[in-house]
Amino acid sequence: MRAGFPDFRLGNVLATSFTATLTERHGDAVERIPTPQRLVDWLAVYGLAVDSCTTAQLELARELRESIDVAATAAALQEALPASAVHVINGCSAQGRAAAILTPEGKRQWQLSSASRVEDALGVIAADAIEIIAGERDGKLALCASPTCRAAFFDASQSRTRKWCDMNTCGNRQKKARFHASRRKHSGSAE
Ligand SMILES: [Zn+2]
Repeated sequence: MRAGFPDFRLGNVLATSFTATLTERHGDAVERIPTPQRLVDWLAVYGLAVDSCTTAQLELARELRESIDVAATAAALQEALPASAVHVINGCSAQGRAAAILTPEGKRQWQLSSASRVEDALGVIAADAIEIIAGERDGKLALCASPTCRAAFFDASQSRTRKWCDMNTCGNRQKKARFHASRRKHSGSAE
């Protein structure tokens, strides 16, 4: 962990973990990849290690991120997908030249075409977004119940009734708020 930067919100789904590098979009937004190096750090966590990243590549990454968020939100609401978002996602997917590699241990790894090809990594993320938005994976897109978050997340729970993008943050905060609200009601105190 690098000191001085907001930590990452790591989830199981690549595309929505990537959109979670900006949180509280409807409140006080927190940018979790504020510098190119932080994008390098984030990609490494997801097995998409690159050795460098330019400011332009970071901007492209953020453009893809916001496009995925917009398209996934529309999909969760069962609305038409905004054409501009679809265009960016498709462009990133088409530009990527990462190859899926099977390790001797039977695990999948991504091999980028060169060590500085952030575009390859973004292509893998875009393809992941396409899969979940197109409904190719078991689960469904939903919006976080927290009014300051409203992040699109992928609900792969058996009952498909997940309410929050992240239990440890949004879920916890809502629970605490409800707890305090009910205490206020019972005690009659104005605090
Ligand atoms: Zn949330």
